[in-house]
Amino acid sequence: MKDCIFCKIAEGKLPARVIYEDDLAVAFEDIAPQAPVHTLVIPRRHISTLLDMEDGDKELVGHLFRVAKDLAREKGIDEGGFRLVLNTNADAGQTVFHLHLHLLGGRRMSWPPG
Ligand code: AMP
Repeated sequence: MKDCIFCKIAEGKLPARVIYEDDLAVAFEDIAPQAPVHTLVIPRRHISTLLDMEDGDKELVGHLFRVAKDLAREKGIDEGGFRLVLNTNADAGQTVFHLHLHLLGGRRMSWPPG
C-alpha cells in the first residue's frame, strides 16, 4: 500500500535490519527497541490491523506466529521467555497501520503492561 512504511520495508524500498523473509512474511529489528530483543514480524501483504484479518488470512496469521516462535529460538530467548504483542488501534498504542507482531525478550517484563 502506498505510503505504508512497513510495505516499503517489505518491498526493500526502505532500509531496515531484515533478519528473516519468505514469500509471506518479513521480520526486522525495531528501530526503537524496548528490550534487548525487539523484532517485528509482518505479513508482506498489507493488512492494516487485526480487525482487517479475513477468514482467508488464518494461515497467514498463523505463519507470523510460527516465524516469531522460530526467531525466539534463534535469538535464545525461548527458555527464559518472551512476549508477543499485537497492538490494535489507538488505545493499544498502534502507530503503524500494517499488522505486526512485536517479539520482545532478553529482560524480565512486568505485568500488567502499561
Ligand atoms: P505499534 O506501536 O505497535 O504500531 O508499533 C510500531 C513499531 O514500529 C514501533 O515499535 C516503532 O519503533 C517501529 N518502527 C517504526 N518505524 C520503523 C522503521 N522504519 N523500522 C523499524 N521499526 C520501526
